Amino acid sequence: MTRTHRIAVIAGDGIGQEVVPEGVRALEAAAEAYGFELRTTEFDYASADYYLKHGTMLPDGWFEQLSAYDAIFFGAVGWPEVVPDHVSLWGSLIQFRRHFDQYVNLRPVKLLEGMKSPLAGRSPGDVDFYVVRENTEGEYSSIGGKMFEGTDRETVIQETVMTRTGVDRVLTYAFELAQRRPRRHLTSATKSNGISITMPYWDERVEEMGRRYPEVDVDKFHIDILAANFVLHPDWFDVVVGSNLFGDILSDLGPACTGTIGIAPSANINPERRFPSLFEPVHGSAPDIAGRGIANPVGQIWSAALMLEHLGEREAAAGIQRAFEKVLAGSPREVLTPDLGGDGSTQSLGKAVADGILAGA
Ligand code: ATP
Ligand code: MG
Repeated sequence: MTRTHRIAVIAGDGIGQEVVPEGVRALEAAAEAYGFELRTTEFDYASADYYLKHGTMLPDGWFEQLSAYDAIFFGAVGWPEVVPDHVSLWGSLIQFRRHFDQYVNLRPVKLLEGMKSPLAGRSPGDVDFYVVRENTEGEYSSIGGKMFEGTDRETVIQETVMTRTGVDRVLTYAFELAQRRPRRHLTSATKSNGISITMPYWDERVEEMGRRYPEVDVDKFHIDILAANFVLHPDWFDVVVGSNLFGDILSDLGPACTGTIGIAPSANINPERRFPSLFEPVHGSAPDIAGRGIANPVGQIWSAALMLEHLGEREAAAGIQRAFEKVLAGSPREVLTPDLGGDGSTQSLGKAVADGILAGA
């Protein structure tokens, strides 16, 4: 019986419209090469155009509609000239993350052959890890407020909320991931020397969880020195897990250490698969280069590989990964996009990767 995957495709704004078709091209090549069926449906919402026509980012019924899919393949949202970023982002992506309980944000950090790392002297084997960010609670709560406004006692408070369920479930994901990796090493981001209630709790849960995964080697760093060590010793890391805020910072710092933002992928995951997970490049809609056909599609294509892995298509995911790594490492200028030093296009690079997927299966 053929395996079938139903994918909701949302290209969104700006270069999302240009890189998503290349991601779909890679998925289609993988489906052909690895023998599964892909059913894609495109949606025009979660975009500035949709907002201009309808006055909202999402239609009524979006939740039921998207719930029928195995995954969401997303481009980028945001066109600040037309819709303020807080409206477009809160009205779309953040709704998806919350309603689909995508409590894990996963970002691979891998230095690839052919990429120039801003870290001097680093070669590909040195940087290859994952950042796992808690995506639903922690520091990003809306509990708090302002007191004594307008007086010299004016005070603002915003609470951090950690629940056992919330902490344990993201740690479980991180430990499972570490357990599957050859190095079996997990690093926890903390700050229990300064944040004296929530962070010691986080540490306690890490320790407790560590007892359930005796094969996984666990260490912890305070966030300040951890950030420094991403730059000084990226080779120390394998799986790094952090709360919402710490994970947010690390998941931008990590990819920044590996070169262009144009290749970095991410996944917003509901590990129980009660709801669809969402896969998107790290970059945004890039208004400055949109419409010119020069955006690097690899972040989108790599996100496609993460999506297939989540859907159980491990070989196909590895096939996509091999294909773009090879293309990035050894292609002439006319294939590569300008951010990689080439003078090719989104399509030339996307096509080279798709050809590689078909050839490499
Ligand atoms: P966000 O939408 O997440 O707030 P942003 O608007 O700050 O992000 P991006 O849209 O990611 O930022 O763009 C940041 C810079 O990186 C821009 O100069 C943009 O042209 C460049 N960039 C982003 N994505 C790509 C890509 N795929 N290929 C080439 N350059 C890119
Ligand atoms: Mg933006």
